[in-house]
Amino acid sequence: MLRKIGILTSGGDSPGMNAAIRAVTRTALSNGIEVVGIHDGYKGLVEGNYEPFTKVSVSETMARGGTILGSARLPEFKDEEVVLKGCQKLKENNIDAVVVIGGDGTYRGADSLTKHGINCIALPGTIDNDIQGTDFTIGFDTALNTIVECVDKLKDTSSSHHRCSVVEVMGNRCGDLAIYSGISCGAEILITPETGYDEEAVLEKLKYFETRKKNHAIVIVSEKVCDVNALADKISKSTGFAGRATILGHIQRGGAPTPTDRVLA
Ligand code: ATP
Repeated sequence: MLRKIGILTSGGDSPGMNAAIRAVTRTALSNGIEVVGIHDGYKGLVEGNYEPFTKVSVSETMARGGTILGSARLPEFKDEEVVLKGCQKLKENNIDAVVVIGGDGTYRGADSLTKHGINCIALPGTIDNDIQGTDFTIGFDTALNTIVECVDKLKDTSSSHHRCSVVEVMGNRCGDLAIYSGISCGAEILITPETGYDEEAVLEKLKYFETRKKNHAIVIVSEKVCDVNALADKISKSTGFAGRATILGHIQRGGAPTPTDRVLA
């Protein structure tokens, strides 16, 4: 019988993780299952950084971005010895099962625990939308909204200055944030892991837009596909547009989760 569960967040944080922690905690408590919040991901799990949770522990967390449990990376969790140490800590604390919230690495950690007899459920908490078997991950919609807001603003200023804005968005080798934001903002060019990067083709397309008298252009690029600063420079030198690179960075991870992400969580 399930009497006590642990809950942790791991890997990169995403908006909506707190709403998921809250939902799991309150549902479990309502069903007579004790809940322990595990701080700092698998690092806290191995070190025993545990806190008994009540319904009040998760009060006023729904609208907060980030994660109240903290997140840490513990690459050593790939070693069986470290996983066994974690299992031992859980057993000492009478924790029967763990709910983990995170990305693909977090899922792999849960898989290791399950293989050693600790049942786990993993929830997809990442802005990247790169978890197999789920249409949308918790945090994707919020990050998308943030990107769209930023690109709309960039579009205002680039159209006043005959600029081409090259905007780098996150995604960790998944093009969904670029594709969804690109469609939403009417970007002229999308460069994603799926499309690949052909510099000559991008420059040719921009030159074509110039012949059509376009006074601005937006290029949305997924991170880790090409160097956006170098591309902006090339655009300035080879086309009539002034190229400007913007790396949105960690701002995409922050902010209050959208209602869609809260409901999903
Ligand atoms: P995101 O991609 O959104 O940053 P993530 O969960 O993929 O999130 P990672 O840093 O890859 O982030 O993984 C989080 C943690 O999961 C790692 O620090 C490690 O403790 C654990 N982990 C990752 N890969 C494995 C693995 N192969 N086996 C066991 N544990 C793993």
